[in-house]
Parts: sequence; structure tokens; C-alpha cells
Amino acid sequence: MTCRPLPKTVAPLPDELLSGWLSRLAASNHCEVSELLTHLEIDARHVAALDYDIDVVAVDRISIAGRIDPVCVPSMTFAAISEADMRLIAQVPFQACPACAVCGLSLKHWRMAWAFDCQLCGTRLLPLHVGQKGEAVSKRLVDRARKGAGVLERAAVSGGARQLRRTLRAVTFAMGLQALRGDPAFALQSPRPNVRLFCLAAIAAAQSRPLAKAALFSMGVDDYARVALLRTYDKEHRLLATIDKIAQQMRKRTNLPDLASRI
Ligand SMILES: [Zn+2]
Repeated sequence: MTCRPLPKTVAPLPDELLSGWLSRLAASNHCEVSELLTHLEIDARHVAALDYDIDVVAVDRISIAGRIDPVCVPSMTFAAISEADMRLIAQVPFQACPACAVCGLSLKHWRMAWAFDCQLCGTRLLPLHVGQKGEAVSKRLVDRARKGAGVLERAAVSGGARQLRRTLRAVTFAMGLQALRGDPAFALQSPRPNVRLFCLAAIAAAQSRPLAKAALFSMGVDDYARVALLRTYDKEHRLLATIDKIAQQMRKRTNLPDLASRI
């Protein structure tokens, strides 16, 4: 096919996601993004699929239609990201900036497991699932989660495998306390804001005091937490024995404090 430039174009913003920019491009030309892709003869069941997998033909057609540098198109996608790094990037949107989303924007960093505040305007990113927005979230938990998100970002961006493992161990431990199972990377992208915030806050807590100590202070060491501890500290038998001993003493006490307040 011979591809021609569209009547109108919009300039991509820094960090803009391809699917978001295509939606804005379609809107400026008074059509739906699905119609735009059909017009360009690009086979994509859903425009979001292009954010992860795009071929050279599609890159070419999009760049001509939108009148942008072909290099710019893949730079708006996650196509070149390694499988290991993809663990911390959400495959489907789970949060957005309420201020920027209203303007039709969709930015790449919103998909990162560590993203907390919008880099464009500073507004706190909120979960996309309407039913979850009403969950009560304390300011203290938000503040601690923001700190943990910063630690996670530094660990992920610096590429230090050891540091990243340490942060994910903290998440595994937090999941144990909340009786959650599964991949810690997915818990950080949970559509349930309290789960995500609790896990991020645990990362911050792990920076200031050892997790084992946090477990002792929590006094709520149950079977799930025990499993989490075993997985987290499987090479530190003496430490586990000490935790068991003190946890047993603590169980005899009453008035267990709220776990979330301890993280
Ligand atoms: Zn924003």
C-alpha cells in the first residue's frame, strides 16, 4: 500500500506510550484508533498490543501517517525491553494519573511497578479499577509506600540484581503477612491499592530495619508469615530458630497490634 500522511498530526510527548499517542492522533483526525489502524492496514487486534510487539512495516506506516521520525515509534514501546525487566512492567494498565488521563495522555512510566507519582505533573497515580478507588488508605501508608517505590526504582534502574532481590524479598515477606501468594512482582502491580501500597511500604521498612526484626515487632507471625520467612531466610537457620522462639513468647501475649501499622 502507499501510505500517506494524515491531514493532522500531534507531536508525541516525552515518555508517551505508542497506544496513547495513536489514540490522540486518531482523535485529532476525528476517527477511532481502530479505524486508524485499519486504514493503515496494521493487523493489531488491540492497539495496546503494539506497545509490546511492533514490526518494521507498522513502524514505517505509522511514522509516515503521523509525520514523525521512524526511530520515534519503537521508542514509545516496550518492545526492546528484556524479559527480566518486563517482570516489573505491567502488561495491562493498572494505574494512571487522573489529571493527565483526562487530557487523553497515556505515559510509559505509569506501567512501571515502582511508579508512584506522575512524572509530568506530580499527581499521585491512582488505580484504574473503579471499584477499588474507595478503599481507605492512610496517609502514613501512602508516605511509606512512596519511599519504598523510590527504593524499588533505584534497585531496578541501577540494574543491581542483589539490591533488586533484596527489595523483592521484602515484598515476599509482606505478602506472607497478608496471606497472599504468587509472584512478588505481580503483587506490586496489584489492582488492589492496599496490597500494592503494603508491599511497597514493606520495601521501605526493610531499608531501615532487618525484616526478621520487623517480624518480631509485628508479633503476628502466623503460618503464612512463617512460610514467607522460610523462603526469605532459607539459608539462615539460626536466625529462624531465634525468630521462632521469640514469636512463641509473643503469641502468649494479647492485644496484637495491627500489622499494617508495623510496616
Ligand atoms: Zn500527570
